[in-house]
Amino acid sequence: MVALTSPDFKRRAARALADPQLQKALKRGGSGFHSKRAQAVAALPEFERLREIGRDIKNHALAHLDHYLETFERNVIANGGQVHWCRDAEEARATVLRICREADARTVTKGKSMISEEIGINEHLERNGITPVETDLGEYILQLVDEPPSHIIAPAFHLNREDWEKRFRAAHTDLPKDRVFNERRDIMAEARAKLRQRFLAADVGITGANFLIAETGTSVIVTNEGNGDLTQTLPRVHIALASIEKVVPTLEDCTSLLRLLARSATGQDFSVYTTFSTGVRRAGDLDGPEAYHVVLIDNGRSNMVGTEFGEMLRCIRCAACMNHCPVYGVTGGHAYGWVYPGPMGSVLTPSLVGVDKAGHLPNASTFCGRCESVCPVKIPLPKMMRHWREREFERHLTPSTIRNGLGVWAFFAKRPSLYRAASRLGMGALALLGRGRGRFRSLPLAGGWTRGRDLPAPEPGGTFMARYAAQQRHR
Ligand code: SF4
Repeated sequence: MVALTSPDFKRRAARALADPQLQKALKRGGSGFHSKRAQAVAALPEFERLREIGRDIKNHALAHLDHYLETFERNVIANGGQVHWCRDAEEARATVLRICREADARTVTKGKSMISEEIGINEHLERNGITPVETDLGEYILQLVDEPPSHIIAPAFHLNREDWEKRFRAAHTDLPKDRVFNERRDIMAEARAKLRQRFLAADVGITGANFLIAETGTSVIVTNEGNGDLTQTLPRVHIALASIEKVVPTLEDCTSLLRLLARSATGQDFSVYTTFSTGVRRAGDLDGPEAYHVVLIDNGRSNMVGTEFGEMLRCIRCAACMNHCPVYGVTGGHAYGWVYPGPMGSVLTPSLVGVDKAGHLPNASTFCGRCESVCPVKIPLPKMMRHWREREFERHLTPSTIRNGLGVWAFFAKRPSLYRAASRLGMGALALLGRGRGRFRSLPLAGGWTRGRDLPAPEPGGTFMARYAAQQRHR
């Protein structure tokens, strides 16, 4: 598994907030995702019902995971393919490398796949003399400049058009100086020209899988660029990397989830390309690989089944939660330090790498609940983040200032009359100090708040409890 970079979310978030280019990119990208999803949802009256269906399909598949994975394997074999069961990232990397070596591969094309980031397959192939080439436009540019993705469906979400041009000029040294990149299509044309040769030269194509269909032994990918199709049909060998929770029972279940996925992700009714791969090329087929391998990866997921984090396995990687998260909206994905950013990452990352390494992530939340309200499979993300915060506290991983602060608060909270007296006293003192100014620009013990915003001084009229009691008396 790729190591979690330093658990210092705060430091990386502060850097992101001070980066005007990044802020511009986040603002532009975020609002586009919001409005497109809202329009798509408004245009489908049964969307809420569809969410319930999606939730139930995934719950059923997870409750019978062993059965559906074995059914999937049987059907892959029946169609001439092979399934490789991998307990962890190391086994998955070794399996992919072995398949590539057996195919005598020197170049491998890749479709976008978060599980491939999770297991660090590119670095492993490179270390072993095999060149992986990312073919998704965003992933391609990030590979050129050696940057990780910052979003699960728009990997180069953090870049503006000017950034793209700068990165192309740095990496494609044969680019004429007078070549212009005024439009998106200029960028596409440059990438396409370079990638075409790579597609034709590749020995192996690696894709992820949005879904695995048990009843047919099919892996399914969705893209908007068509690069996934070229990746899996042109080379002799196709490897589909998939984590175990991607399996669904039937083709019909898959189509229900596809309707949710595209609308929640990009606001499309359907993604431009939805490709079903079943087995190897048959006699008479116009294209398709000679060998079809599905690498099934657990990497900590089976430990989540049946726990308070099991519902996270319903995730269909649509990114709606991060697109609507006020924290992600200003920090971007790199602040999260690992593969999965935003609210889904704040739950999934500690589940996969441990709360000791990633316990800080569930704290990067306002608990506004927007993530849960837009999740197409109704994952209770805030509830699970709260569970992680409890675990972090129980294990004494929380900073001592927070622990002590909570300890003091708990002392008073357990003694209501003392609590009321103390809050009256505190409020009176704050009202006195803030008299005439109306707000505080700085305040001892509240520096984290006042560094970014003012703190309103309390208004006369007493504490909430005092006002409530007075209201009850006058009823
Ligand atoms: S948690 Fe829900 S909203 Fe977030 S990526 Fe997964 S399915 Fe989408």
